[in-house]
Amino acid sequence: MTSTRQLGINYQNWIESWLLEKFPGAAVHNLKPFATKITCFACKGNGCGKCKGKGDIFISQRQDLFGCVDIVAVLPKDCGRPLFIQATLHTGLGKKLKDLSAVPWDFLHVHVQIWHKRSDGVTIIHKVYNHEGVLAYRKIGEIFRRKYTKTNDQAK
Ligand SMILES: [Zn+2]
Repeated sequence: MTSTRQLGINYQNWIESWLLEKFPGAAVHNLKPFATKITCFACKGNGCGKCKGKGDIFISQRQDLFGCVDIVAVLPKDCGRPLFIQATLHTGLGKKLKDLSAVPWDFLHVHVQIWHKRSDGVTIIHKVYNHEGVLAYRKIGEIFRRKYTKTNDQAK
């Protein structure tokens, strides 16, 4: 597993633990990639340099929902509306929005958010919404050292 991937997994784990801590009773499903052991394709299990003679190797298997959702949560006291989170460490949120656009979301019934880890201990939470038929996002809050602050500008 590359370290970039590991950072992504760590971030998803962090979001999961934060949600469970802040919303006791929440159901959180973390769609993080997992490592699967497969027969080494270079030597077909006989053992070679690539698999260090073991005959099998680990590959990372993606699990994200629709290719864009990393975490699904149902928080208490929210009428059971599921929250779909796209977690990212990158600044290219336009690409994330494009991926999310492939899903015909009904924003009356679901929440869709992009959680962007901007730096250590800082997460910006963006709400994804429909703006005249096109997906858009805007910042709704920020987490700094596990403390959530709602963004004041809540104009629609
Ligand atoms: Zn091998």
